[in-house]
Parts: sequence; C-alpha cells; structure tokens
Amino acid sequence: MSTHELLPEPYKIKVIEPIQAISRAQRQAAIDAAGYNTFLLRSDDVYIDLLTDSGTNAMSDSQWAWMMVGDEAYAGSRSFEHLRDAVQQVYGYRYVVPTHQGRGAEHILSKCLIRPGCVVPGNMYFTTTRLHQELAGGTFVDVIIDEAHDPDSQHPFKGNVDLEKLEKLTLEMDISKIPYITIGAPVNMAGGQPVSLENLRQVSEFCRARGIRVVLDAARAIENARLIQEREADQAGRPVKDILRDMCSLTDACTMSAKKDAFANIGGFLAVNDEGLFEEAKNLCAVYEGLHTYGGLAGRDMEALAQGLREAVERDEWVAHRISQVRYLWENLKERGIPLVHPCGGHAVFVDARRFLTHVPQSHYPAQSLSAAIYLDSGVRGMERGIVSAGRDPETRQEHEPELELVRLALPRRVYTQSHLDFVADGLRKTWLRRDEIPGLKFVFEPRYLRFFQARFAPIAAKARGGKREAALARGKQG
Ligand SMILES: *Cc1c(COP(=O)(O)O)cnc(C)c1O
Repeated sequence: MSTHELLPEPYKIKVIEPIQAISRAQRQAAIDAAGYNTFLLRSDDVYIDLLTDSGTNAMSDSQWAWMMVGDEAYAGSRSFEHLRDAVQQVYGYRYVVPTHQGRGAEHILSKCLIRPGCVVPGNMYFTTTRLHQELAGGTFVDVIIDEAHDPDSQHPFKGNVDLEKLEKLTLEMDISKIPYITIGAPVNMAGGQPVSLENLRQVSEFCRARGIRVVLDAARAIENARLIQEREADQAGRPVKDILRDMCSLTDACTMSAKKDAFANIGGFLAVNDEGLFEEAKNLCAVYEGLHTYGGLAGRDMEALAQGLREAVERDEWVAHRISQVRYLWENLKERGIPLVHPCGGHAVFVDARRFLTHVPQSHYPAQSLSAAIYLDSGVRGMERGIVSAGRDPETRQEHEPELELVRLALPRRVYTQSHLDFVADGLRKTWLRRDEIPGLKFVFEPRYLRFFQARFAPIAAKARGGKREAALARGKQG
C-alpha cells in the first residue's frame, strides 16, 4: 500500500483486454529469442507493457463512435475537415497537412526546409527527428541547458533552451543556414522534462528577430502545458488549453505524433502558419504519405484523432490524472531505492541505468541490459534510452555517447490501474536486489538506421569483477 497521492480516474472501464503473465523460464526463452531487445519481444509474452505511450492509448467511447462516421472518400473527405478544424481550434496554426504519424511530418518538414550544409538546433535530439534532418543533408546541434544531461538536477524545466548556446551558434555561422529550431516540449530523451513558457518566449523573440523559424514538436505539448501550470509561478490556475495556445503562438509550425497526447492509436500532422510552406508540404504529402486530405490515414482514423484532440483539452482532469499516474509510479520506485531521473517527467519514469548497474560500462550497453533484466524479472517491458538509441555519427560512424543512460517506463494513457503500477514498482525492486548479477551486452546485429528498434545483443560473460555467479548467469543466458 502506498500513501502517494493518485488522482481517481476521470473515467470508468467499459471494455477490457485480457493479459496474462508467462513463467520466468518462458520469459528467459523469450528475451533470448529477442536478442535482448525489448522491441523484438512478442506482445503476448509481455505482462505490463510500458515500452511506449505511442499509439497504445485506450480510446474513449466518443472516439469509437466517431470512427463509425469516418468519411473514406479519397479526396475532400469530411473527416479531414473535422481534423483540420480540431487542430486549428486546439493549437491555433493556420494550415494542416495530415500524416500517417509524427515521423511523416518530420520527413516532409525536413525536405521542405533543409538543404545540404544546414544546421538545425534543438533542445536535445529525438531519434526520428534527427534522422530526417540528417537524411535531408542537415546537422543537428543540441542547445538544451546543461542541467538536462544531469539526472540529479532538480531544475523544474530541464527542457529549456540555453540561449547562450543558441546565440553562439548563430554568431559562428551563416544564419541563412539555420532554417529552424525544433523545440521538443516536453523533451522525451531528457526524461519527459518540460520547457517553460518564459523560455519559449525568449527563444521565440530571439529566433524571430533573426528569421529563424521555431518548430514545436507537439507530440506531448498538452502534458508540457500541464507541467507549466504546475511549476511556473505565474501560470498556476490557467486552463491547460490556454497555456497550450500560448505555447503554439510563440512558434511558427508544429510536427505532431498524434499517437501521444491525442489518445489515438495512429496519426499525425504538420501544422504551419506560412502559406508558401503549406503549399510545398501539401505537395510532398501527396508524394510520400497520400493525398493532402488523408495523408496515409483512413477517414475513421482522422475522426478518432480529431475527437481525441478535442477531448484532451476539454477538461484538465485528463492530463492531470495521467501525470499523477506517472508521478505515483515515480514516487513508489524512489521509495524502493531505484535510481531515477529527477524531477518526475510527464509521460514516463526514467530509470538511471548508470547508477543501477555501476559495474557495466557504457560500452556494454547498461540500459539495454537493464531493460532486458526488468522484463525477465517481472514481465514488464520498458525500453533503452541511452547509447543504443543515440546511434552513430553519420560521417565518422563513431557511437554518440550520451550522458543519460536510461530505461524508460512509459505509461499508455487510460490503460493501466494503480495495482498494475504497484506491481511494476515491486518488480523493479526484485531487479534492484539482484543488480550485481546483471551482465553487460554486446551487439550481434546492428542495423544502419534507428538501430535501437531492430538490434540484437548477447550477454558478455563477466570476468573483470570475477563474480562466479555473474559469469554462470551470463553463460546460462547464452545457452
Ligand atoms: C513519437 C515521437 C516522434 C515521432 O512520432 P511517430 O508518431 O512515432 O512517428 C517525434 N517526436 C517525439 C518527441 C516523439 O515522442
């Protein structure tokens, strides 16, 4: 029993999906077969699935109802009009291009605005965002504040942009080579850490004075708005939807993965204020996604997304409950001694694998190994957010070595209950108690792009520490 505050669910349950835990021996076989990569596990072999909050949300009865009236016309679909109207109303951007998911919008935007030699600053990289920038010939430059790289820093807005870093970049290079800055709000890779409205205002002023566009990565902007409401002194008491509109008004465009905030299972969009950019994006949409009135989505998907967006901001309780669930899990893990990224973020709890597995060097992929060990101990699936996710420099092929070496436990929206969260916290405690036995990993297969999704690993038999038990365990796992 925990005493931590958890808001009651602002919904009741109408449909259920059975889940079942398999035995530890079966999990051992499953993680071996998956090459120690939780992305390669079968979902039937997972008990509590915290791999991602992307597209794993439970839809409301209204969203399901709207799916029945989806207009599946190839062109001029009424469902697109509903989506466009919802985006305009919730975020305030003028023009909307639908895409199959967030990376579709990132692809189109990168193709429209980036030329070889361009530099795109941002508040920490995101995997797909940076890859599309690189594939378009650009280079990503991190301008997030230093505190973001320190899991112990208590800074309430670790997603903030360091304006000195940004200014230095603009002084060092030809400004025409900086087409835009991307602002992730909150910053996924930093631990779901938010950006303050004040910082966004400063970034916006700085960039607008220099003709640099500000592009919001809006995947979880509603969660960021809630964290602003909680943490930014002069924003307490304002409705989330008003804070969100203020955030968007300080930016020129957004790329959106609607699989996050919008309670949808699929979908995304690019929204912009500039008509010329809209025309070009609309044209590329027809090349890569589908006609500009469906962008790779069925009419019913666009309806579910539009309703999800309206719902997400209609009452602050939705996002408040979600974040209270994340905080509840965070508090429970902290109480059990698990090293975590501080402060608690919006969509997930991030476990600090460096301090969890102090005997595993970064070159042996501690967060990858820890995510596999957590699965083995309790059937809970999280994912690596460390050196494996960071990948390699496209030119030198050297591995990026991020300071943060994390396992992310992301909470799907409206899916799990308090007792599931308690089970997860107890499960991680088991892993914590046997942490010394957990071996590092080596690659056995490394894909070229976004390697974390499809890579395969094998345990390294421990010798340096001479632990017989550890070595025996590693052998057991290989066999
Ligand atoms: C999920 C995500 C994306 C990419 O969106 P997809 O829908 O997965 O293609 C981009 N940025 C952030 C911050 C995300 O979390």
